[in-house]
Amino acid sequence: MRVPLLELTTQNGALADQLKSTAAAVIDSGRYIMGPEIEAFETEVARYCGAAHGISVSSGTDAILLALMALEIGPGDEVIVPSFTFFATAGCVSRTGATPVFADCCPRCFNLRASDVTPLITERTKAIIPVHLFGQCAPLGELIELAEKHRLHLIEDAAQGIGARLGDHHAGSIGTAGTFSFFPSKNLGGFGDGGMITTQDAELAERMRILRMHGSAPKYYHSQIGGNFRMDPLQAALLRLKLPHLNSYIEGRRRNAGLYRRGLADVAGVDTTPLATGCTANCQCRSPSDVRLILPAELEGHFHTYNQFTLRLPGKGRRDALRTYLNAADIGAEIYYPLPLHKQACFAGLPSAGLPLPHCEQLAEEVLSLPIYPELDAAQIAYVVAAIKSFLEAES
Ligand SMILES: *Cc1c(COP(=O)(O)O)cnc(C)c1O
Repeated sequence: MRVPLLELTTQNGALADQLKSTAAAVIDSGRYIMGPEIEAFETEVARYCGAAHGISVSSGTDAILLALMALEIGPGDEVIVPSFTFFATAGCVSRTGATPVFADCCPRCFNLRASDVTPLITERTKAIIPVHLFGQCAPLGELIELAEKHRLHLIEDAAQGIGARLGDHHAGSIGTAGTFSFFPSKNLGGFGDGGMITTQDAELAERMRILRMHGSAPKYYHSQIGGNFRMDPLQAALLRLKLPHLNSYIEGRRRNAGLYRRGLADVAGVDTTPLATGCTANCQCRSPSDVRLILPAELEGHFHTYNQFTLRLPGKGRRDALRTYLNAADIGAEIYYPLPLHKQACFAGLPSAGLPLPHCEQLAEEVLSLPIYPELDAAQIAYVVAAIKSFLEAES
């Protein structure tokens, strides 16, 4: 049996007729920049996320960059970011001229906590960028309190978290702004690059719309230096067709996560402990020392969308050995992320780059993400579960 890490043609194939006729309609319309498809998609995503405004952009990376630019973050400013995340979260901070300050994270939910951020706040700190890593909201309640206390902006990097919820609130509706990606592997996967910013702040939304078009308002009069951060109407039109299916895609991912959990629950030395009281400095982050397999923790009150289902295998070399074993059985498995950002060569000159961030460093050595896309069937999940169990048996 073959279980690829990701397979996009089944999901998109189910909508092929509509997608093709919609693409043809955009081509025939002659409207290739901005226009009604863009406006409709922005309205629909904002409504889905419970945000007042949506600003579509060229990628999830540009969404972060544009949010930082619109908040006038630049040289001399510091922005606190988790080190265990995709590069763009910190790369965009550097591109504005500001300094990323790397923070540790929770080893069970993988997310930034207020206790990781507090010691890093200085009078130069302007913003915090929690990431809803792997599709579960970061514990934003305490982070919002901290941001308010120190008058910091809070940008939710929700690239992996569209549809994720914290209580009744959707990712992207809670902070100063939320940024999304429609990269094909994200839960709302497009046909190329695309992104969105959501915000409740009308004035901020207007600044972002202007900066998205070279800072021009009115046309050809530039009060600010922006860029070309536009999404294509073709992309917007195709994504509009997929958006009504997003909740069923997420349900498919959650079903698959449940199958993994049930399948792996009886493994000797598995840690399935949920984080019952939410992830705080005092959460049960440390697994007992005899644990051999740690399943991803769902935080109480957090609706996880499983953009990734990420295991941990403590012990030197065990994660790499499992990956090799699964790949040999024709099962895709990937390491998100093998090197935390504070250890990346391009950030070596930064003041916070040399400091130890023990949880991020440990995660980089122990994590392994399994296939979780919604179209997987129960037999494929059972095959992956059986492979993991036979790996663990062979080990002991
Ligand atoms: C994918 C991703 C991005 C960047 O999105 P692109 O659309 O690929 O530019 C940013 N942050 C995180 C956490 C991501 O996973």
